[in-house]
Amino acid sequence: MVIDLHTHSRFSDGSATPTEVIDLAVEAGCTAIALTDHDGLAGLTEAENRAAATGIAFVRGCEVSASFQPGSLHLLCYFVPAEGPLSKKLADLRADRERRNEQLLQLLNDLRIEITREEVEVEAGSDVIGRPHFAAVLIRHGVVDSIEEAFQRFLAKGAPAYVEREHVEPVEILELAARSGALTSIAHPMTLGLAPAELDRLLDDYAGSGLTGLESYYSSYDADLQKDLVAIARHHDLVPTGGSDFHGTFKPGLQIGIGRGELCVPDEVLDELRSRRAS
Ligand code: AMP
Ligand code: ZN
Ligand code: FE
Ligand code: FE
Repeated sequence: MVIDLHTHSRFSDGSATPTEVIDLAVEAGCTAIALTDHDGLAGLTEAENRAAATGIAFVRGCEVSASFQPGSLHLLCYFVPAEGPLSKKLADLRADRERRNEQLLQLLNDLRIEITREEVEVEAGSDVIGRPHFAAVLIRHGVVDSIEEAFQRFLAKGAPAYVEREHVEPVEILELAARSGALTSIAHPMTLGLAPAELDRLLDDYAGSGLTGLESYYSSYDADLQKDLVAIARHHDLVPTGGSDFHGTFKPGLQIGIGRGELCVPDEVLDELRSRRAS
């Protein structure tokens, strides 16, 4: 029995509709799926309706980027209500994303890369525009050959068209989520770039602020690393969550449920989340 608690649709920087995400999860044999678009909840109703029609269990989610040095800290939120302190904050974050996108476009134009806002919007297919959409337009213009190259040469932290997002403390998101009745899990924890002892300290801190989970099963993590992360999660009394981080064509080679082929998130993880939520 497998589940997938980390997926993106067209309502952020995935290429599939929420309906398609659910159908792919059913095809992959998942018993449960969470949709976790960046900074927004707009795809959840469609996904919920499709899930109800197919019988797969559905978890309302989102993924929020918080400030962190040296890497980046993404928080997965689960059981997110449509209204409440967290959804209010998401609206602010989308406004900041808009500001970032304007500046990013200007920087690319300054580099004599003449792409337009309209092209990026068409690529996105929704009003949440992300860097992968800029990457896709750069490919269309023949400026780069791949999304990875677009990030390396232009879009990644430290590259010439990189623009900082609004500073958001991870603890602020943990608290807003808790006040909203949502649970949180640190996504792809290796992107924090921490040594084991530092990660230990961070998890102690965040567990005190209401963190519930640590993403331990993840498409690009090998079996040994996943085992280590599960052990770290257990040590801190966190739920070892997991998912593919499916983005459709924006992250080639990743499939819902199975990631790059080996992913297998046990369905007990969702049972644990549900019981944490109840208590
Ligand atoms: P944004 O939220 O618009 O800043 O974009 C974040 C998205 O960019 C996430 O989906 C990441 O997976 C993707 N991303 C970040 N860094 C890279 C990279 N080096 N290569 C490919 N995708 C990346
Ligand atoms: Zn994304
Ligand atoms: Fe992420
Ligand atoms: Fe993600």
